[in-house]
Amino acid sequence: MRDFFGALRADIAETKGDAYSEGSSVLIADIAELVTCDGPGETAESALGIIGDAALIHQHGEVVWIGPATEAPAADRAVSLRGRTMVPGFVDSHTHLIFAGDRSAEFAARMTGVPYDGGGIATTVAATRAATDEQLRDLLHARLAELRRQGTTTVEIKSGYGLDVAAESRLLGLAREVTDEVTYLGGHVVPAEYRSDRAAYVDLVTTEMLRACAPHARWVDVFCEPASAHAFDGDEARAILTAGMAAGLLPRVHGNQLAPGPGVQLAVELGAASVDHCTYLTGADVDALVGAADTTVATLLPGVEFSTRSPYPDARRLIDAGVSVAIASDCNPGTCYSNSMPFMIALAVREMRMTPAEALLAATRGAAKSLRRTTIGRLAVGGPLDAAVVDAPSYLHLAYRPGVPIVRALGV
Ligand SMILES: [Zn+2]
Repeated sequence: MRDFFGALRADIAETKGDAYSEGSSVLIADIAELVTCDGPGETAESALGIIGDAALIHQHGEVVWIGPATEAPAADRAVSLRGRTMVPGFVDSHTHLIFAGDRSAEFAARMTGVPYDGGGIATTVAATRAATDEQLRDLLHARLAELRRQGTTTVEIKSGYGLDVAAESRLLGLAREVTDEVTYLGGHVVPAEYRSDRAAYVDLVTTEMLRACAPHARWVDVFCEPASAHAFDGDEARAILTAGMAAGLLPRVHGNQLAPGPGVQLAVELGAASVDHCTYLTGADVDALVGAADTTVATLLPGVEFSTRSPYPDARRLIDAGVSVAIASDCNPGTCYSNSMPFMIALAVREMRMTPAEALLAATRGAAKSLRRTTIGRLAVGGPLDAAVVDAPSYLHLAYRPGVPIVRALGV
């Protein structure tokens, strides 16, 4: 498998640089199932836009033709996918990928019944502040290599383990080296040194820290969870998000993870691109998300419920009501140290009763929508060849074979 993907990468890469003439193109043939995620959206199955026995032509960094293999025009080179499946690269629209330290003992304790309340974040903050840039860069690149080997091609990365001006700004600068989807999360938790004066920390997050961080970030996020003494209530979250928006950042929200709360309503009111977790929702929350389906995506993070042994969000209720849904990993050292999108797809299907089609769409096109991106999360003529290859005859194997390494990003 490694050799095959390596050869494919070499062939594709050769069609990119300027050294090649206008006519240089590569035909990728023998695709058992090409899942474009670019079909009409009436049903999840039609939205997948599946073409059986398909081919695709790539030229100068762009997909220039997609269709049945029997109708494929000639190209300068040809690569056989040997009956494998091609899907859009996964979009992991919610991660906390930059951190140092180890919290495996906390996980083990939780598995014996110790509840999660957000307090362990302080452990990661201390380790992350103490790490050098080089150490953090090494950890980040190792995690990026892991997720690409599992089919992810776009990743969003949040700060939130610095929680002072210099440390938050440093984390965002490191994230910016590897992705455009960088999120300022100074409002992750109230750090220990501000526990007796929360208002002073909110003031810092909305003024000096924001000024230092905004140049590195595209998004502003906040952990809006009044049920946790460490996180922020609705008024504090509103102050953090509106300050970020005034500085030119786009809002997204952690909300309704541990109990019902104001996160979803606040996200909808502010036109946030995404509200993430959505585990505890009222009827009014669901109605608000339906009304905002063009603007605000409900991002479900089932790895968190798996890793904290908690009840899963009611994905069926959301999808059946007409809410826009994404799934992401929330990769972080406390509540889900997995960056495997195929695993999240399997959980979405097995534990949240999404269909395999709904889960794949949520991991690609849905997650791209939550990042306000239109050319990723789908495969279409004129777009990039931003794809993953499944070593199976159908995308169904993504949920059917959990934990088996059958998918990887094209080019890895
Ligand atoms: Zn998170």
